[in-house]
Amino acid sequence: MKKYLILLLLAPLLSLAQSQNRPNIIFIFSDDHAYQAIGAYGNKIAKTPSLDRLAREGALFKNSFVTNSICGPSRATLLTGKYSHMNGYKRNDRTLFDTDQVLFSKELQKNGYQTAWVGKMHLNSLPVGFDYWNILPGQGHYFNPDFISQPNDTTRYSGYVSDLVTQFATEWLEKRDKEKPFFMIVGHKATHREWSPALEDLGAYDNIDFPIPSNFYDNYEGREAARQQDMTVDKTMRMREDLKMDADYEKGWLYGRMNAEQKKTYKAYYDKINADLKAKNLTGKALVEWKLKRYLKDYYATANGLDRNIGKLLDYLDKSGLTKNTVVIYSSDQGFYLGEHGWFDKRFIYEQSMKTPFIIRYPDVVKPGTTVEQMILNIDWAPTVLDIAGAKVPSVMQGVSVLPLLKAPQAAKVPWRKEAYYHYYEFPQPHHVYPHFGVRTDRYKLAYFYGGVDRWELFDLEKDPDEMANIYGQKGTEALTKQLKASLKKLMTEYKDEEALKILALARM
Ligand code: CA
Repeated sequence: MKKYLILLLLAPLLSLAQSQNRPNIIFIFSDDHAYQAIGAYGNKIAKTPSLDRLAREGALFKNSFVTNSICGPSRATLLTGKYSHMNGYKRNDRTLFDTDQVLFSKELQKNGYQTAWVGKMHLNSLPVGFDYWNILPGQGHYFNPDFISQPNDTTRYSGYVSDLVTQFATEWLEKRDKEKPFFMIVGHKATHREWSPALEDLGAYDNIDFPIPSNFYDNYEGREAARQQDMTVDKTMRMREDLKMDADYEKGWLYGRMNAEQKKTYKAYYDKINADLKAKNLTGKALVEWKLKRYLKDYYATANGLDRNIGKLLDYLDKSGLTKNTVVIYSSDQGFYLGEHGWFDKRFIYEQSMKTPFIIRYPDVVKPGTTVEQMILNIDWAPTVLDIAGAKVPSVMQGVSVLPLLKAPQAAKVPWRKEAYYHYYEFPQPHHVYPHFGVRTDRYKLAYFYGGVDRWELFDLEKDPDEMANIYGQKGTEALTKQLKASLKKLMTEYKDEEALKILALARM
């Protein structure tokens, strides 16, 4: 009896101890941040010391992919662990995100976690399954942005968005219930278009002569969908809004809300560049290359502010003693083109947009400096977070936890997917990228573009990493093509993509 009483008295303490042992999780989620612009991913120009630190202290996934390379849908996949056709959020338009479905945030709450979303969300809805939130409306603004806080109040704050997101994140960490483990998404607007750097980062890369990607002057031969897109640096990128030449600082949507000091600093910086450009009177190739380099300077400088803020958050974790028991994940909602194929933006199944950075620091579990080769997908993010939290992964989620890949020495032997399935939808606006689906293996990629263009593409990533030579239909590829088509059909069936199965059945061969 006595023993029983003691146990009864100890029970709440034991469960408290258990919950305190469960790790906290911070998911830092940027927007359009290309893996190829990160030092840890091999970039020699980018200054990304905080992300490099995270990779050095944790694990870097070399083959992390999204299943539909576009903002809103990737965010819906983050929450649901499901493909777009299963969670209902296929396009970035005014689709309403169905928050009644199973979301990992609700599962975390059921398992005793405190949950928060700070910063960019971009799902046309308010957060569900989060105890606290303070989010940007839609795309949000770089300068003096509005934030929507509970229950639905909009407040405008002075300052730069990446700084404010970090400030609100650390403020919540200060005031959270310290008896419970927490999960927090830190959603960054950077490095989304129009790549507006913080005042202190203007010109950070002005002395760099950015190399022109080898396939910048792609003629899209044999790739009809690529030929018909509208996302080139040459024709689509706007001088005024994107590159800030003669920007409207008075009533423009972008910079009209800047305060006097911000306007003055921006004007002083860009007016000089503008004057220089006018004096040079560039045309043709020289002008296109000027645009590309100007774009890259702004993009990289914007990423400096993002990285500095990630550093501030990591420093906060150090100072507050949270580092040891907090898992930090970094990813972006998809990749981005930095001039490859002549483009900016994303959408295509080609590597630079399908691939996205994924770094995880998990003290005492992940050996510092680990790199992972296996292909992971954004449907794996939700199951991974739940696995870290010790919660059950709901069967409706289509991904799997990536943790087994991190637990050496067995990691290399873990049975893992050999094929990744992709399906993109948004057409024709805004960039005229035909809908398409495809499969990627470690060496090959097969895609079918439909919706009018109706073409197959096949790439050998080993021989042609830039995806320039479509070898579909070439002699000698018959058996490979047959095998990849069978894989595609198998994946569509497994992931229940009924619409794709119908399109595939009617696809020209
Ligand atoms: Ca995005």
